[in-house]
Amino acid sequence: MTAGPVVVVGGGIAGLTAALELAEAGVAVTVVEAAGRFGGKITTNRVDGLVVEAGADSFLSTKPAGLALVNRLGISDRLVNSKAEDRRTFVWSRGRLRELPEGLVLGSPTRAWSLLRSGLLSPAGAARLVGDVVVPRRRDADSDGGRSGPPGAEETVAEFFTRRLGPEAYARVVEPLLAGIHAGDATRLSLPATFPRFVEMERNHGGLVRAALAPHLPTLANPLRRKGSNAPAPAGTIGPVPPGRTPFVSFQTGMAELIEALEARLRVLNVDLRAGQAVTTIRAVDRGYEVVVDGGATLQAAAVILATPAPVTAVLVRPLCPVAATTLEEIEHASTATVSLAYQADDVGTPPAGYGFVVPRGEGRHLLAGTWGSGKWPGRAPAGHVLVRGYVGGIGREGVLEADDDGLVHLVRAELGALAGIRGTPVHTEVHRYPAGMPQYTVGHLARVTRIRNALAACPGLAVTGAPYNGVGIPDCIADAQATARATLATLPPQG
Ligand SMILES: Cc1cc2nc3c(=O)[nH]c(=O)nc-3n(C[C@H](O)[C@H](O)[C@H](O)COP(=O)(O)OP(=O)(O)OC[C@H]3O[C@@H](n4cnc5c(N)ncnc54)[C@H](O)[C@@H]3O)c2cc1C
Repeated sequence: MTAGPVVVVGGGIAGLTAALELAEAGVAVTVVEAAGRFGGKITTNRVDGLVVEAGADSFLSTKPAGLALVNRLGISDRLVNSKAEDRRTFVWSRGRLRELPEGLVLGSPTRAWSLLRSGLLSPAGAARLVGDVVVPRRRDADSDGGRSGPPGAEETVAEFFTRRLGPEAYARVVEPLLAGIHAGDATRLSLPATFPRFVEMERNHGGLVRAALAPHLPTLANPLRRKGSNAPAPAGTIGPVPPGRTPFVSFQTGMAELIEALEARLRVLNVDLRAGQAVTTIRAVDRGYEVVVDGGATLQAAAVILATPAPVTAVLVRPLCPVAATTLEEIEHASTATVSLAYQADDVGTPPAGYGFVVPRGEGRHLLAGTWGSGKWPGRAPAGHVLVRGYVGGIGREGVLEADDDGLVHLVRAELGALAGIRGTPVHTEVHRYPAGMPQYTVGHLARVTRIRNALAACPGLAVTGAPYNGVGIPDCIADAQATARATLATLPPQG
């Protein structure tokens, strides 16, 4: 059965994935993207042998929706694992870079004991971390982490980790690793919305250290793994690291390969791909919607999927569904920038060790993180060169973004010099800005998303998907887009 045409607004990973799901079901689809190219926050610039990731540089292999899409597109042979040579990650703490125990890199202290030896924590802080084994389970951890409870019942990321592991482990280790990913303020981020797996760990094991010490039971990194079970985890959730893969994976010539493969498949499926055209208005008409594009063109659609950032989505749905628009506006966002610098290796001196480092908020630095692109991934820089990237901005640290691009390069060079000893003059620099680019799942987020989707139910055929809702990671966006497209399919009138 085929159905009427669908317009997908926004050609990032969520919009393109939704279009694929619909087109493969035989639906006529148009994707309208405001920028001159598709991909949104996935952009790779390939220049002079460098592979510069402007935004996302990898995705989790433990969330099945990502690799499943890669398989479906037939590009599994293009995947690359992170380099095996030196898998270390560091934290800037009290004047120097200190190595994070490996199991902690995903926010999962599967080697809690090695943390005690790392010097990251004082003896008292380490003892308090181990005290997690005697911290009682939160009462509503038996249900849903407090998300359906009375106001105040939903724990923040900071409250949860401080309660379980103590203030020192939270501030020195957990905050930079977890809040850094979201460029957020962990004292406001909702634990069940941002990191639901930790709610599960407490519920299933009674604590994080207990979960880490239960090798055949679900672990902190893999909360769905069950003893004696190799069943794949459902899409959108976390499973074990697949055989032959590292926890994070990318592509040989960068993340844009995923977007290029999606575009190519969509063209084969005759999807109408329109880049460089912003949608300005959506109107309800007799049997569906009219989508007005910058410049005046109007597209007729039986259904519309908005895969745009929440502030844009709010403007577009306001005339149709004001409750959804007002709730969309309540979703906060952080602004960030990435500053990529390529050096001749000789100029840098000793190449930086491991994959890079994160910086706790309490250290008062500008950098959120520094990543050694060429140390973490193969093929990112020509021989004799290193590629590094600084991540700046985020909630409470957005002042630096007022600097112009030269100013940001200057600032990141100074920070990389002070924190990691990187000297020399870069041979190539790129600054990429993401104003209001990172949705913040603050307390109440899950309820807001339910409110948005319930309100939109009054507009049959109008749906939203993407990073603002059920996970900012690429596999989360893919899983959400697929579910949204399937729900949209069900609303389409039969054709024929
Ligand atoms: C710096 C950075 C690093 C990241 N690193 C990682 C990582 O390593 N791994 C990971 O999994 N995730 C990472 N993320 C998160 C992840 O990249 C994003 O959450 C995800 O790509 C968002 O996809 P999306 O399709 O929801 O939105 P977007 O990629 O934002 O796409 C939305 C699209 O809508 C378009 N649009 C806007 N307005 C209109 C309009 N009026 N009409 C038509 N089109 C419009 C935009 O141009 C854009 O292309 C990172 C994010 C950032 C900012």
